[in-house]
Amino acid sequence: MTKTFEIAVFEGDGIGPEITAPTVAILKRMASASPDYALTFTDAPAGAAHYAKTGESFPESSMQAAKRADAILLSAMGLPDVRYPDGTEISPQIDLRKALTLFAGVRPVTVKAGQRTPLALPEGKEIDFVLIRESTEGLFYTQGRGEVSEDEARETLLITREISEKLFRFTFELAAARKKAGRGKGRVTCVDKANVFRAFAFFRSLFDAEAARHPDLKADHAYVDATALWMVQKPWEFDVMVTENMFGDILSDLGAGLMGGLGLAPSADIGEKHAVFQPCHGSAPDIAGQGVANPFAMILSAAMMLDWLGIKHDVPAMVADGNRLREAVEDVVARGEVLTRDLGGKAGTDEAAAAVLETLFVA
Ligand code: ATP
Ligand code: MG
Repeated sequence: MTKTFEIAVFEGDGIGPEITAPTVAILKRMASASPDYALTFTDAPAGAAHYAKTGESFPESSMQAAKRADAILLSAMGLPDVRYPDGTEISPQIDLRKALTLFAGVRPVTVKAGQRTPLALPEGKEIDFVLIRESTEGLFYTQGRGEVSEDEARETLLITREISEKLFRFTFELAAARKKAGRGKGRVTCVDKANVFRAFAFFRSLFDAEAARHPDLKADHAYVDATALWMVQKPWEFDVMVTENMFGDILSDLGAGLMGGLGLAPSADIGEKHAVFQPCHGSAPDIAGQGVANPFAMILSAAMMLDWLGIKHDVPAMVADGNRLREAVEDVVARGEVLTRDLGGKAGTDEAAAAVLETLFVA
């Protein structure tokens, strides 16, 4: 039986529309080739360009489309010269994260053969881990609301049982799914600073409680400072890592650095019910409208979406297609013949996306 899923698409600002169109085209092609699932797409206008045009950055109809959808695909939003009257940035993706309680930021970090990385990887070693960042509390809890007086400034570090339990449940489920897919090492690492902060000792104790429910997975802990060192010295040893908000913010940029930049870095923001899939990069206004943007991070985000939907709704064909799509991008990168400028090539956005389609359907 065919299961149908509705995808809300935020094509966003800058290079957003250019990288969204070929990504949606690939998804349509994959879904139409599968008897097991179908996808429908709803355009959800929002962002800085929409604000400039209409005076509205996030129309209620787009929020409703996001809430109704089975998954949300988003490119990037915000433009440097379009801001609210008070000067703050227009970033509906943050409104979305709050409105839908997307507590888990998921950043896969992979470096496959042929991919550029600033590290000199030992022969035969590849990087393949997932960093999960709590995205609603932690050291970002008082974000913009800290107390500042003449003589001191204070912010709050908040760890709650409710969010942490959801976060760790999600983390171990993801590690189990990776293991089942023959990927990863069945290892989950809690990254904290439990030796200094009681809040992180609490975080760790909740992690341990969830770990006890998964005897088939290895669970361990690492301090965040040591983790930064090991991500450079032996990143191939990590599998699934989970951490609080600010540590995750910092480590995920380190992860993007390992991948040789933003062009191949996908991400997801996941809650109990909803999920947003988007590339790590921004709207790249400096190259918008030229047809030269790299679509791979967006396409890899779409692959994560297929994975997530397939696991959540038990459609193995979608998980398989997510893998196929990711492998097709990895294949194009490894061959090195059709790459955009940021990866050292000369191809345009559409050519790069066409190479992925060809790998999927012709090769
Ligand atoms: P944001 O604040 O929205 O994250 P940013 O200021 O961090 O944005 P990006 O928009 O991510 O910046 O762009 C940073 C640099 O990377 C720019 O020079 C941009 O052209 C380049 N870049 C970002 N995404 C891509 C892409 N998909 N293809 C090619 N170059 C990109
Ligand atoms: Mg940025």
